[in-house]
Amino acid sequence: MNEDSLKKALTGKLITALDPGFRETADGLIWNGRKPAVRARYIVHAATVADVQLCVRFAAANGLTVSPRGGGHHFTGIATQADMVVDLAALDHLAIDARARLCEAGPAVTNERLNAALDRHGFGFPVGHCGSVPLSGYLLGGGVGWNAGQWGIACFLIESADVVLPDGSLVTVSETDHPDIFWAMRGAGPGFFGIVTAYRLKLLPAAQSTLSTVRVYPAALARTVAGWMDAASQRAPANVEMTLKVETQLGPIGPVLATTAILTAFGSSEAEAKAILEEIGRDAPDGCFALMPEMPTPIAALYEMTASGAPKGKRYAVDSLWSDADLGAVVAHIVEGMERAPSSSSFAVISPGSRHASVPGDAAFSRIGAIFGAVYTVWDAPADDAVNMTWLRDLLDRATPLKTGIYVGYGDIGLPSRRNETHSPAAAARLALLRRRYDGNGLFLRHPDPAMDKVA
Ligand SMILES: Cc1cc2nc3c(=O)[nH]c(=O)nc-3n(C[C@H](O)[C@H](O)[C@H](O)COP(=O)(O)OP(=O)(O)OC[C@H]3O[C@@H](n4cnc5c(N)ncnc54)[C@H](O)[C@@H]3O)c2cc1C
Repeated sequence: MNEDSLKKALTGKLITALDPGFRETADGLIWNGRKPAVRARYIVHAATVADVQLCVRFAAANGLTVSPRGGGHHFTGIATQADMVVDLAALDHLAIDARARLCEAGPAVTNERLNAALDRHGFGFPVGHCGSVPLSGYLLGGGVGWNAGQWGIACFLIESADVVLPDGSLVTVSETDHPDIFWAMRGAGPGFFGIVTAYRLKLLPAAQSTLSTVRVYPAALARTVAGWMDAASQRAPANVEMTLKVETQLGPIGPVLATTAILTAFGSSEAEAKAILEEIGRDAPDGCFALMPEMPTPIAALYEMTASGAPKGKRYAVDSLWSDADLGAVVAHIVEGMERAPSSSSFAVISPGSRHASVPGDAAFSRIGAIFGAVYTVWDAPADDAVNMTWLRDLLDRATPLKTGIYVGYGDIGLPSRRNETHSPAAAARLALLRRRYDGNGLFLRHPDPAMDKVA
């Protein structure tokens, strides 16, 4: 098949590097304001699953590499790093079977849209913390979402999925059908060797009341605040999410580095959610300079807050850590780094998990620790790329003794060393084996553009 016959056969649209506007189209596929310099030769806006299959067969026949693009949210821009990008944005069907407690969703369905549909039916699901992220890459990396302590890592609620394989065939994978592909799909992230065209998800009972409290402390009290949260995490039930956000805030006498303690309880009743927050809040240290008492925060409201915290269009570099170290040590390390952050828009989030949190099953998602942290480096000017990225990498390099690994969805995987930290050694070996078995020619082999990596 040549380019012309592909064009004719597609329901969707093929754009080549020679077409006017190609560069803008390619850059528009990436959510980060910092765009990869390396661009594909072909972009296909797939309209159907058959289009996805056609693209894969065309690429295989012509010796091209292929990268599916969900929402382009991976901070490295990896979704467009191949000869041919298959944009899945049009695969956005969503259907809920309330009786079976299942949902079928196309990869482009966003967390926000899924959440709104679940709200209407009274179901819960660990949708991601930002509404604009689609299920596509979110579930593929694992999916660290709201109420993960109780509801678990999202990919473990995948019942089955449809996957286009490197030979262009379409298979349905589950615990019983193609279990090795199913295993890989749940956590491989960009290392997956197929294209997911539909997910079927198990649904949970919704929280009946979601309440949050917010306490803002000067960063000088970060160790004390971490001590309180650490003690709380030992006894807190699984259905409360505890987060420390380290960011520049407006304090009593101007901008200061602050440690904000955010507690969100997902109760089966308002009384339960309130009781959880009161019990933890009782020991909260003195010294906060702003306090927001219990307020209702359904996930839709949480999305408004997180959207303003990470606006589209800024330049981002992000990295993460899982840790089993002392929470105080992790927080102190990040606060010390944040005090030297070149950009005052950068921030970090650190979440100690409840000791009662649900434990992930066996899948490629294999790196985890009691604490999850992510550092968001946020800036505006391209001239500041190097200073910001050098700062981020130094901060996370020096965190190595504290880390059990990094999360592939937030990983700075432009760095080859970081790519070794995304999966346990056993899972990485199994993934490599499966990749050789299913994608021996490296059709789906993709790495972030090294230019996105340049720090000097
Ligand atoms: C603002 C923001 C907030 C975030 N919040 C969270 C959060 O709360 N929890 C969390 O876990 N993650 C979060 N993430 C990370 C996010 O889940 C990952 O970056 C994820 O990859 C985004 O999905 P995507 O479809 O946009 O990925 P893309 O950037 O489109 O793709 C990422 C990689 O996955 C591959 N891929 C994408 N879709 C498919 C598919 N259907 N089949 C096969 N391969 C595919 C691509 O080829 C690429 O290699 C956040 C990211 C951003 C930007």
